[in-house]
Amino acid sequence: MSSLVDSFSRRIDYMRISVTDRCDLRCIYCASRFEAYSHDDILRYEEIYRVVQSAASLGVTKIRLTGGEPLVRLYLSNLVRMLAGVPGIEEISMTTNGTLLARYAEELKSAGLKRVNVSLDSLKPGRFFEITGGNKLADVLAGIAASNRVGLQPVKINMVVLKGINEDEIIDFARKTLTDGWHVRYIEHMPFENSTSQGNGLVSTAEIMTRIEEKLGKLVPHKPEAGNGPARYYKLPGANGTLGFIGAVTECFCAGCNRFRLTADGKLRPCLLDDDEIDIKEPLRRGATTEELAQLIQSAASLKRAQHHLNEGDIPAGRSMRQIGG
Ligand code: SAM
Repeated sequence: MSSLVDSFSRRIDYMRISVTDRCDLRCIYCASRFEAYSHDDILRYEEIYRVVQSAASLGVTKIRLTGGEPLVRLYLSNLVRMLAGVPGIEEISMTTNGTLLARYAEELKSAGLKRVNVSLDSLKPGRFFEITGGNKLADVLAGIAASNRVGLQPVKINMVVLKGINEDEIIDFARKTLTDGWHVRYIEHMPFENSTSQGNGLVSTAEIMTRIEEKLGKLVPHKPEAGNGPARYYKLPGANGTLGFIGAVTECFCAGCNRFRLTADGKLRPCLLDDDEIDIKEPLRRGATTEELAQLIQSAASLKRAQHHLNEGDIPAGRSMRQIGG
């Protein structure tokens, strides 16, 4: 098997696949100004399967399903089962808002899904509604419980810290690592030009860590067992759960990047924060071979830039997070 290496000698073995741009929530910082894609615009499961076969032939071993909200796409477990059967694919995980997880956790697990990340920005029902436009906090909490019950673990809870909106809940989330064994990750809010809101500015990872240490004690560095991505992990003394910090803006971790993306409408996107994309849908639909698809994936990898330039004001102008697949 050959391996996928970019122009900066980074080995790419991780593919994030957006299965839809639709979502049942409208998070203020994520919702897009664009119309949703039509049924025909988005890749069919068989087409995603073919891209994954080609990617696996190049050494991709890990897949993460995302969106939009992946669970609003019908029969998602069928896709999970198909991808779990691709030789070389070792792990399939999913990023979800959790609203439909309680319904699907068990069938996703038996289809071959290994674990889930659940996005949750508030533990207060009223604020959850203000941020997401949905009255669904109880459903998300039920989804987290169901995922733990069926073993989609570790369940990671991703909180985007929004200045002036939910930053007063940083400590409440950290306490959950003590009281409920949650694995919480704090994500810096990234600016996207075509999101409906740019937010009020940044609460940096350094600031989040200081606030936690001031209230709850020294953070002890921790090495997680699974899914060791861009986050830095810590534990509070006595906690079963962990705290992860993703300084997407203030701490550039691009040097260790091992991933690329497939958007719901069939574009290979080498980097979340760069608008460069390569179309793979048209070649797929005109019958490209597995080798031709692999060549396109190679070209996408070679387009990867050394690093993002968010700090110099170079903000992705093309699509919002919901359209790219977060
Ligand atoms: N619907 C799924 C969910 O909610 O997890 C998957 C897609 S969503 C785009 C994936 C993740 O991107 C969520 O955790 C969301 O909070 C995060 N996200 C969206 N826009 C963001 C932004 N501007 N900065 C940082 N994270 C963002």
